[in-house]
Amino acid sequence: MRFDTRLVHEGQTPSPGSGDIVPPLHLAVTYSRSAQDPPRYFYSRGENPTREDLERCLAALEDVGFATAYASGQAAAMTALSLLRAGDRLVASDDVYGGTHQLLDLARAQGVTVDQVDLSDAQHRDSALAQAAGRLDMVWLESPSNPLLKIADIAAVSAVAHDRGALVLVDNTLASPALQQPLALGADISLYSATKFLGGHLDVLGGALVYDSADLHERFLAYRTMAGNAAGAMDCFLIHRGVKTLSLRVARQVDNARAVVAALTAQPAVAAVHFPGLAEHPGHEIACRQMRGPGALASFEYQGDPAALMDRCRLFAPAVSLGGVRSLIECPAFMTHRPVPRETRLRLGVTDNLIRLSMGIEDPADLVDDLIGAIQDVSPTH
Ligand SMILES: *Cc1c(COP(=O)(O)O)cnc(C)c1O
Repeated sequence: MRFDTRLVHEGQTPSPGSGDIVPPLHLAVTYSRSAQDPPRYFYSRGENPTREDLERCLAALEDVGFATAYASGQAAAMTALSLLRAGDRLVASDDVYGGTHQLLDLARAQGVTVDQVDLSDAQHRDSALAQAAGRLDMVWLESPSNPLLKIADIAAVSAVAHDRGALVLVDNTLASPALQQPLALGADISLYSATKFLGGHLDVLGGALVYDSADLHERFLAYRTMAGNAAGAMDCFLIHRGVKTLSLRVARQVDNARAVVAALTAQPAVAAVHFPGLAEHPGHEIACRQMRGPGALASFEYQGDPAALMDRCRLFAPAVSLGGVRSLIECPAFMTHRPVPRETRLRLGVTDNLIRLSMGIEDPADLVDDLIGAIQDVSPTH
């Protein structure tokens, strides 16, 4: 089966007897052992048929054997970090999701050495990964990154990291498996906030880890059952329903991003536009090689008051999150990246005037009218 068919068919085996075309939602928290042949389900913190349906689908989308679903992207990230012990060394992208910055601080507090470097820059990347002194246990890569949409070469990072015996995790939330397949590029673990493109409707929280190692699977399942951070059955059902339209949604969202970016670049009040689809974007070539499209997010430097601009938009809702059917606008400085110390944020290039857009599936002309109209209304000198 090809990707778009897998979206609809994987993890959808009809239950025996009824002929359901959509597998039923299993809400039971406990299972009668005597009714199972052979006994497979014990307690739903550990195993649940609806969760397993989603996991089968997510693993199949990347052509691998295993996936585990979590209560949120953060719960999935926490589980991946549980592989590290005090004294281990992690190298991570510098430009990462706001919540990831906090999780990395937690790992530091627990004795893990965490170095954050610009993994989109080949020189920084190679010197950080090849540092002769000390060990390297894990590389944590976000590409495209959030909110600057920097692109790291996943195959190149994986090759160097594997030489050092390290595991490579890619936070693939911003691309989704429809646009990028980290495991095929050489990474070991794909991380998702399923809250974003996979769920796609801004109405369910979830997360996932996808990988091809039975050993990792055993460790992740053991941690999840112990920590109790698995995705609930209802949430799995909703995410799985969202996944069926992933390709259709993402294709429209990418088209919308191209249209909005084209209009933005012509605005005098817009100083810089970050979008991997632009030929002048530093990661454009790598993005063309490792992604099936530039994604549905763009960010830009606005020469005016971000709050006033967000207030004036009618279709772009001023809200965090991304990847849903509805377009969103946010200012990382006081929204998604508020927890990041200002000095760190500015050093990364996340200025007070940076605005991030997540394109929905609305009509592109309406999105352009809304945003450009707002810019023209509120910009001080234009
Ligand atoms: C949202 C997000 C997360 C965290 O996911 P939640 O579902 O909100 O816990 C992690 N990484 C990236 C890139 C995200 O956008």
